[in-house]
Amino acid sequence: MRLVVKIGTSSLCGDDGLLIDERIKNLAAQMAWARQNSHELVVVSSGAVGAGIGRSGKHPSEVVEKQALAAIGQAYLMQAYQRHLPDVVLAQILLTRQDLEDARRRANSVNTIQRLLEWGVLPIVNENDTVAHEEIRIGDNDTLAARVAVLINANLLILLSDVDGLYTEDPRKTPAAKHVGTVQWVSGELLNRHGTKTRGWGTGGIRTKLLAARIAQEHAIPTVLADSTTPDVVPHLVQGDVVRATYFLSRPDDPSFGVNVRNHSGMEILLGDEY
Ligand code: GLU
Repeated sequence: MRLVVKIGTSSLCGDDGLLIDERIKNLAAQMAWARQNSHELVVVSSGAVGAGIGRSGKHPSEVVEKQALAAIGQAYLMQAYQRHLPDVVLAQILLTRQDLEDARRRANSVNTIQRLLEWGVLPIVNENDTVAHEEIRIGDNDTLAARVAVLINANLLILLSDVDGLYTEDPRKTPAAKHVGTVQWVSGELLNRHGTKTRGWGTGGIRTKLLAARIAQEHAIPTVLADSTTPDVVPHLVQGDVVRATYFLSRPDDPSFGVNVRNHSGMEILLGDEY
């Protein structure tokens, strides 16, 4: 299986923005599992700004400072992954929107990732925050991960976050909010329900995750939104085990992934149409 696993800042950094080594160690072990089991893996990892804060002790108050911290932190982020994946060759890929939209740059990006996968290297992708000003920013790593999944024609996009899926409302504000097991189609209505661009309760917000799932759906790629702290979440998802998460079907008329999901016992299912 060709997998894109996106790891959000909230899964890597504490409230103070600092990288938490134990979390990287845990996720790295799951990456190693995927590779040992012959899956092709591309990781989209946030955490550069967090790692930059950790190393420099500076806290960003303006965009340029964030960009500077990303420049510092990106190297330390890669080092942290390398420390916990001593036997794996890693490659760092930093992309901007132009790299995905310009045909030539896009072809270069895909060819490079393709070659790295053929070589058995683990590509770790992030947005090139240091050069990506507003006009050329992708803006969030959920969207970046979906675009990378499309770029390399992945079979599955896994978004790891600090939430175990989509809820009918913000569960932190509304304890009665219901967990959504499956979304058949990320409709415009669903997107409207989950607000505008303002940040949600996850670091990137639920909206960017829905948008990412929609991009993947439009290209017939299924997406799972799961909690990064669920033990062995990646192996479980890849093996089709029961994991509390939200499954976005690949497209409404191709429910193969959904059938698999619906077979999972004990999972609360709410289809996008109803929702
Ligand atoms: N590229 C940012 C970073 O590495 C994260 C962006 C995001 O979390 O969406 O810190």
